[in-house]
Formats: sequence, structure tokens, C-alpha cells
Amino acid sequence: MKIQNVVVGAGFAGACIARRIAEEKNESVLVIDKKMHIAGHAYDEYNEHGVLIHKYGPHIFHTNNKLVWNWLSRFTEWNNYQHRVLSYVDGFYVPMPISIETINSLYNLNLSTFELESWLDERRLKDLLIKNSEDVVLSKLGRDLFEKFFKNYTFKQWNLDANQLDASVISRIPVRHNRDTRYFSDRYQGLPTLGYTKLLSKILEHKNIHLLLNTEWSNIKPDLSYGKLFYTGSIDEYFDYSLGNLGYRSVKFEYETFFDREYFQKVGTVNYPNDYDFTRITEYKWLTGQKILQTTIAREFSSSEGEPFYTVPNASNQILYKEYTKMIPNNVFFIGRLAEYKYYNMDQIVERVLFLDI
Ligand code: UDP
Repeated sequence: MKIQNVVVGAGFAGACIARRIAEEKNESVLVIDKKMHIAGHAYDEYNEHGVLIHKYGPHIFHTNNKLVWNWLSRFTEWNNYQHRVLSYVDGFYVPMPISIETINSLYNLNLSTFELESWLDERRLKDLLIKNSEDVVLSKLGRDLFEKFFKNYTFKQWNLDANQLDASVISRIPVRHNRDTRYFSDRYQGLPTLGYTKLLSKILEHKNIHLLLNTEWSNIKPDLSYGKLFYTGSIDEYFDYSLGNLGYRSVKFEYETFFDREYFQKVGTVNYPNDYDFTRITEYKWLTGQKILQTTIAREFSSSEGEPFYTVPNASNQILYKEYTKMIPNNVFFIGRLAEYKYYNMDQIVERVLFLDI
């Protein structure tokens, strides 16, 4: 069968690409996904207790890009949720990312924003050449804060020390020299009012888009001929692991629902850098704003086994990824976290797709 465009993966990347092709080029697009559902890892659903959860971990949309926000806003309204995270350190729940509020409550101080600058200046390692994620924190905050907030969380999450990880990983977490305790400071923030699955189903709802779920690319590839292929899965899988396996981290979720209280914790997510085996607990009601008496939490356990959630940006993986890219045919486009072997936030992937030459 001959098809103009094939998109592999019905997550954010695949759905947005398909929509652009369908709308702007008025060409037909076949979107396939191996999962039984659309929306990739942004998939959300109501669990058996009626609580809306994110099946593959918390997704909080945030962007400074008005173009991205406006484009998505054609398909959804937003609940304007602003994410807040506490970190459980030395027996206290303190705001994360580290801000003046974090330092003052943890060390029982009353520093002004001005005093914080010199307080940090006495602790941070100056003139450090930034080679990895540990250096990022040491140069901004010094060793004590690195050990309390980042060292063990990072090891739990990656099974690697922070000095084995590319600087980009921890650079995602800012240091706030003010009293802003939100996790993100972007201009536009929120979750789709009806959820991500509904948002992505709206994006895919177009007469030129044909959707095939529960379908492995490798199984239907021999029967298809196509003009262009937009592939959003893992690049090493696409090439049958012929050059070797890239590293990934997966996440296992342990859910618990409480019927005796409306909320379990004070904010959407609590990080546990030094206690327990899980990295964090998310309580979905905070994110979704759902009005319901019971509440569901998810504890996250990072794992080397299971489907890929995160790429592992270190030197050897980057080299292998580059080798794979040399094999990409001219009519195939690799787009997205797994396909480009890099961390993308949802807004970054939408931006990537909006600027893509389709
Ligand atoms: N991190 C940490 N302590 C924290 C939060 C984050 O050490 O309390 C580090 C950790 O290495 C993590 C990275 O910063 O993988 C990025 O954190 P983010 O919250 O962006 O992770 P994601 O939500 O993508 O899992």
C-alpha cells in the first residue's frame, strides 16, 4: 500500500506533526502506535476510583513560547495550575527548587534576598569548570546543598553519580534568588482542562488523519510504501539495535488511594532525595484540580528495566546516538525524546514540530 505520510507514535510529537501535515499540506497521514491508546506518555485516564491520573508520571505543561501556547489552545482550555514541589530534607518539607524560602527554613535563618547572594557566595565553588551535573550544583550552591538535595536523588533516579551525567540534567532545576516557590516560572502554565488524552485526541481529529493503534511499526513496515516517515520511537530500536543499545531509564509507579481524607500531602509533588527507595510522590488532584472526595498518589521508582522514559545523557550514549544518526535515510525524520535521544519538555517538542520543515 502506498501512503503519503506515516507517523510512528501518537504522543505529543506524532500528533502535532500529523496535524500540521493534514492541515497545512492537505495530505493524508497514517499515525500508528504500538500502545492501545493515543497520547504516549502524556496519557491520562480515570482510575478505578474515579481519580484522573497520569499513567506515565506527572505532566505539567509550561512554556514561555506564546506561539506554542496559542497553537495548543486551539484544542484545549487550561486549568492554569502552577506546580509546587516540596523536598523532604533533614525531617523538614522545604520548597524546591531552592529559593530564599528553602534556605531560611532549612537553616533557620531570616536572610533577605540581598543577604542570600553573599550567603551563597561563601559556599559555592568558584571558578569551577562545568563538566557535569555535580559541577552545576557545586558552582551555584556549594557542597552541603548538593548533598542534601541532589546527590542521592540523582543516584536513585539514574543509578549514576551526578558527576557521570551531562550538565544539562540538573541544569533543568533553577536556583531562585527570590521568594518564588513555584517549580516553573514560565509565563504560561497549566494542564488541559479535560486532560492530555482529550487534548491529543482533538489534535488527531482531522479527516486526513488515520489512526492505527496496537500496531508495531516493524510488523507493518514490510507492507507499506510511503513518501515521508516521521518516527518518534527509540532510534536504536528503529535500526534493530545494530550498533548496540542506548541507555534509558524507566519508572515504575506504586499507586495508593485514600478514602479517609481529601488530600494526602500539601502540594502536587514531594521529592524524597535521602529517604525511601522512591524518588517522589505525586498527588494527582493537585495537578488536575479534580473535585472528588478520595485521592490517589503515585510513588515513583526509577528502574533500568521497562519501557524507556528518559534518555541517559552521558558521553558514551551521545557517541552511539551520533553513529545511529548517520544511518537515517533522507525521507525519514526522527523527532522527539526517544528519536533524538534528548530530554524535551512537552512545549519544547511542540515548538520543534511547529518549526519542522514538513
Ligand atoms: N533533581 C535532584 N533533586 C530533586 C529534583 C531533581 O537531584 O529534588 C535532579 C535529578 O537528577 C533529576 C533532575 O534534577 O533527574 C531533573 O529533575 P526534574 O524534576 O526536571 O525531573 P523530571 O520531572 O524530568 O523527572
